[in-house]
Amino acid sequence: MKKTKHLLCCHLVLMLILFACVAMPVTASETPYDNQGVHGYVVRLYETVLGRQPDEIGLNEWYQLLVSGSQTGAQVARDFFMSPEYLEKNTSNDTYLRDLYRALFDRDADGIGYEEWMAQLDAGVPRINILKGFVDSIEFSELCNRFSIEKGTVEGEYYGPELTGTEKFILRLYKTALGRDADEEGMTSWNYILANKIQSGADVAFGFIFSPECIKMNLSNQAFVELLYSALFDRGADSEGLATWMHELERGMSREYVFSGFVNSIEFGELCAAYNIDKGDFYVRCIDPDKPMVALTFDDGPSAHTPRVLDALEQYHQVATFFVVGTCASVYPEYITRAYEMGCEIGNHTYNHPDLTRVSYAEIQNQINKTNALIYKATGTYATVTRTPGGSVNNTVKNAINNPIILWSIDTVDWKTRNTQATVNCVLNNVEDGDIVLMHDLHKPTAAAAEIIVPALVERGYQLVTVSELAQYRGNGLENHKVYYGFTN
Ligand code: ZN
Repeated sequence: MKKTKHLLCCHLVLMLILFACVAMPVTASETPYDNQGVHGYVVRLYETVLGRQPDEIGLNEWYQLLVSGSQTGAQVARDFFMSPEYLEKNTSNDTYLRDLYRALFDRDADGIGYEEWMAQLDAGVPRINILKGFVDSIEFSELCNRFSIEKGTVEGEYYGPELTGTEKFILRLYKTALGRDADEEGMTSWNYILANKIQSGADVAFGFIFSPECIKMNLSNQAFVELLYSALFDRGADSEGLATWMHELERGMSREYVFSGFVNSIEFGELCAAYNIDKGDFYVRCIDPDKPMVALTFDDGPSAHTPRVLDALEQYHQVATFFVVGTCASVYPEYITRAYEMGCEIGNHTYNHPDLTRVSYAEIQNQINKTNALIYKATGTYATVTRTPGGSVNNTVKNAINNPIILWSIDTVDWKTRNTQATVNCVLNNVEDGDIVLMHDLHKPTAAAAEIIVPALVERGYQLVTVSELAQYRGNGLENHKVYYGFTN
């Protein structure tokens, strides 16, 4: 009994659908289209673009898309003009234009406007761009007002009648790295940057391959390397090369490092030459977990001598950690900014260097907070590591400081000797993988020592890293309220 009833129902529904689709065109009075404006707009597009009455299913779908706000009037118009049904008509440019006028302006084509659009179509401008011109106009906006629908807009396609070398290079990055056509705005701004040599080919390639859009694709290591081959070498990966790069990634080298290997190659140079663009030099600091590393730290600054330390680090693409004192940070904030922008770490060394074991809990926090505010002003971020003056620590100090507390494994005593050679010897005779070295950029002999120590350590194969990096690669990271001395074995 139940089954029969069910079947009967189905039958009735089917009859109704067939009746609606085939037997007669749909009119507003028969269906619950509460929004007469939207309904009228969709019916209009069927009539003017496709030249027929709407079918019930299609009408309902378009109606829902517009009413729910998931599509705008412009987008629906585009989809009608891009529909297989319309494309099958194989319209001439003339017909296409006249259809646009009829559908979107509700009038016949006029002389001057028509001529201008025709000239563009004849020059090869994509039809979608002409449609964009129509939907972005006041006239279309008036039509949408008439039907009380949201106008919106559509994206045009990038179009250049004669692509320059820089444009072609950018277009291939869009296709290979992002898997899509260039949008006009993106193409214009990238082309400006590349053509005016504001950035090199390698920099622009970096901008694409490390863009949020590309990162969102969540590429596997292999897919990432293959992308580099196609985007930067214009070929598929050879098995040997692929295996080599995969091995580098698996042992902990970064994707930026692999990228730099590609763009610094002869093959990428040849690709750039073919597009007549400047390849540029590309450097990215990358930590090799298999090579020794050490964290140089400089306390009590910044001072007039800090730039010498920074110059030495910069020249060899190395970094250090600066534990700054608030009284100095307020005098030389620009050195803190520079150090931070070089990739150095900025640590907190209190405001005016008291022995924290001899002041109150509130005063400890006051010392830290005042300096943190200055660090924030110079870098836009707070210190993630703190060093207590003189290395004084007790439980109150540990509790009061909401940072890892970084002490040292090599004390150069540079503040006492004030002797460049003594400082150099102390570091070079004692350094081991994982050390944290204590120095003071407040003193001129220390700045001179840094100029010798940095290249000497690099020569020995050391990587100069920040304290946080050292903790990441040689320890298990850092925890707040804990004291660290170094990460040697
Ligand atoms: Zn100090």
